[in-house]
Amino acid sequence: MPELRIGVLAVQGGFEAHALMLRELGAAATEVRTPEDLAGLDGLVIPGGESTTIVKGIDSAGLEPAIRAHCEAGGTLFGTCAGMIVCDDAHLGLLDATARRNAFGRQLQSFETDLQVDGIGEEPLRAVFIRAPWVERHGPGVEVLSSYEGHPVVVREGNVLACAFHPELTDDPRLHAFFMAMTTGAHDRAREEAET
Ligand code: GLN
Repeated sequence: MPELRIGVLAVQGGFEAHALMLRELGAAATEVRTPEDLAGLDGLVIPGGESTTIVKGIDSAGLEPAIRAHCEAGGTLFGTCAGMIVCDDAHLGLLDATARRNAFGRQLQSFETDLQVDGIGEEPLRAVFIRAPWVERHGPGVEVLSSYEGHPVVVREGNVLACAFHPELTDDPRLHAFFMAMTTGAHDRAREEAET
């Protein structure tokens, strides 16, 4: 398997820590600022930050059609925190789900907890929530991989993975590894389809 090429949207927010984690897992991680930067990528991470600013940045850089084309060509997408909001049906519409911004309210603006996440093993994952959203509604094609107090916080729909917290802020890389495995699977499927 050749090295996976994963881009990290570097419009705003915490993109550097994602790139570091992906590199530690063996991916070629690059920063994405223009539509050209998306060419040839296997996967794309949309990091946390401020969803309004990220959406504006995507718009002013003309990135929306390129992100859509990336997904239509079988590329994977991983939206974290604000990135989850950016993917939802009120924004780019790449996920059949609606995220609720700042869902945990004032008292729980920022907190850490241990979460059981399907697909990454038994060991709970330390999750850092910072003014995090949760998934308020989702369609039948969306798999909930983890919930916190009854609210979905890790979801997957086909090639799109989204989580409400910041998986790049701990030293546990399992969610990024899960995303990379998803990307390898998507890559192999796209190749098989091209060959048949
Ligand atoms: N509250 C932010 C928003 O609504 C998301 C926060 C984050 O990404 N840590 O965009």
